[in-house]
Amino acid sequence: MQIGKYKLSFIESGNFRLDGGAMFGIIPKPLWQKTNPPDEVNRIKLSTCHLILQSDSKKIIIDTGMGNKWDEKMKNIYAIDENTSMNFALGKIGLEPDDITDVLLTHLHFDHTGGSTVKVNGKLQPAFPNAKYYVQKQNFEWAMNPSDRDKGSYIQENFFPLFEEGVLNFINGNEQFDDEIDFIVINGHTFGQQMVKISDGNNTFLFCSDLMPFVSHIPLPYIMGYDLQPLVTLEEKKKYLKIALDENWKLFFGHDPEIAFATVKKFGEGYTVDKKLRSFDEI
Ligand SMILES: [Zn+2]
Repeated sequence: MQIGKYKLSFIESGNFRLDGGAMFGIIPKPLWQKTNPPDEVNRIKLSTCHLILQSDSKKIIIDTGMGNKWDEKMKNIYAIDENTSMNFALGKIGLEPDDITDVLLTHLHFDHTGGSTVKVNGKLQPAFPNAKYYVQKQNFEWAMNPSDRDKGSYIQENFFPLFEEGVLNFINGNEQFDDEIDFIVINGHTFGQQMVKISDGNNTFLFCSDLMPFVSHIPLPYIMGYDLQPLVTLEEKKKYLKIALDENWKLFFGHDPEIAFATVKKFGEGYTVDKKLRSFDEI
């Protein structure tokens, strides 16, 4: 898929599991378990999915997944699948970590920036050695000083070494990265999360990140229990789902194990999924 100067690809770097009730907030289990079946301890499967954008001069990745710095206890809690990895996923499209020039981080939760650093001989260093990393300044500041409620999601070894190395670049608000790429700030899930919009005027993709991790989060009340400001998430969903409908945006879901993209349609006062697409070949 070509958008302006960029060729877009889709990769999946791994999967893990989180509590199904936490993933769907107030929604009763008989409803969410139809689309996201739980295991014996009520966990549902999440993928870590990424868009890769390649031009003549840049190779960009959005988010870096869970990474491989987990101990056995955490691997068991989150059912982290070690059979998949970022290097393997990149290899499938002919890339290596050294090739990546820019890493766009939507936010610094461990499932979005865990793969940003690696431990080599006991020392933490950037996993993409030739890349500049980008995150909202507001999210970095929150990540360095989170609340007691969400501090388990911000693990400093996943992002502070980037700052120390001088490769972490701060974005302030809704900035344009270049002709095709825009950052859109949202604050319901955490403070200073950024979605990534990629458009050439004809086709528009929105990397929704944790505004809607699964396609099953499109209906308005389907909001994660993890969100710090769920009513803000609700307003953000109303705003961006309306634009997605009016302008026929393709939404990219960062955690859906089955669906890569979807378009939306009106359903009563809210929205529902229209077309589900598993790959760029189906567009
Ligand atoms: Zn998150």
